Amino acid sequence: MSLINNLLRHFGTKVFLTYLALILVMLLIVGVAMRLALPDALGRHMQGMGGMGGQANGPGAGPDLALSLRSASNEAFLLAAGVALLVAVGLSVWLSRELAAPLQRITAASQALAVGRYEERVEVSGAPEAEQDEIGRLALSFNQMAAELEQTEALRRQLIGDVSHELRTPLTAIKGYVEGLMDGVVPANADTYQQIHREADRLQRLVADLQELSRVQSGGFVLEKKPVLVAELFQALSKRMAKQFEDKAVRLEIREAGDLPMISGDEDRIGQVLLNLASNALQYTPPGGRVMVAARQQGSFVEFEMADSGSGIPAEHLPHIFNRFYRVDKSRSRAEGGSGIGLTIAKHLVESHGGRIWVESQGAGRGSTFRFTIPLVRH
Ligand code: ADP
Repeated sequence: MSLINNLLRHFGTKVFLTYLALILVMLLIVGVAMRLALPDALGRHMQGMGGMGGQANGPGAGPDLALSLRSASNEAFLLAAGVALLVAVGLSVWLSRELAAPLQRITAASQALAVGRYEERVEVSGAPEAEQDEIGRLALSFNQMAAELEQTEALRRQLIGDVSHELRTPLTAIKGYVEGLMDGVVPANADTYQQIHREADRLQRLVADLQELSRVQSGGFVLEKKPVLVAELFQALSKRMAKQFEDKAVRLEIREAGDLPMISGDEDRIGQVLLNLASNALQYTPPGGRVMVAARQQGSFVEFEMADSGSGIPAEHLPHIFNRFYRVDKSRSRAEGGSGIGLTIAKHLVESHGGRIWVESQGAGRGSTFRFTIPLVRH
């Protein structure tokens, strides 16, 4: 039974069986029609000969009978073939339409897609994918592709909206200062120029972040994977961040990682993720707080941990924190220069290594813990 089901899942088998069925139907029609038409035709031919003075039992009866039989069977066959041909043409037209219909639907849908109607889908029978034939599976993958294109298009539109929104704030501020300067309502002093400079700086950082985001999202960067020592990553992090932590009086506590096996990854990129998480931790932890960095082996991965005693993240924001431009406290972060892109970049970098990244927080004011995994070197 499963063999038959298996065979029926192939479009080729369906076409073959259709032809076979057509041939059998034709044979059946020819057989039945000849059976019905032959006695009658034979009777007429024999009668015709008798009428012409033929002797049924005379010496000429043999050839006459044979002649009658041949003429009668010719006539019956022509009739049967005519009927069978008509039925076959009718059936073929119907069957080819049946077989071509799904392909026509896919063609129509792909043309709709080509002109930007991304919501277009092909109707597919409700059977699971494994039970569909090749055309059913083609329709299913077409629908999947259309859904992905629709999502990409929605993201693209959203991105344009987000970017315009992000650019508007600093641009409005710069314009305001310059207009104020031109009208003489804003004093032309160092403070004003510094404000303008700060806004221009924010614009520059936003553009740089966007460029980086587009690079990591499009996969337009090469990971230079090699065996990396976690302890070395931690050393580099400490070197880069120690002064900033000291300046803000936040304790940076980096745990021992010397006995961990090597991980496989791009040292700079993993360093970038650690730096990003550490900068965030520092940014959202008030003076007197602490940030702890650790790593431990979890199966065939090393799990990194960055735990801070800072502002924490309310539960309702946790699922969105890795989304582009997402900030918990929009006004505060913007004032401090965060574009809400850093974690999106970190997520892409971790995932391109085959790891994952997530965050835990007990809620506002109770600190946050970011974790991410990177695979070990395989032996
Ligand atoms: P930003 O450049 O704004 O820091 P990120 O993508 O790095 O952008 O972070 C997104 C948002 O996640 C931040 O605006 C902040 O609200 C929240 N966030 C990130 N890290 C922390 C942290 N350690 N503690 C509290 N909130 C955090």
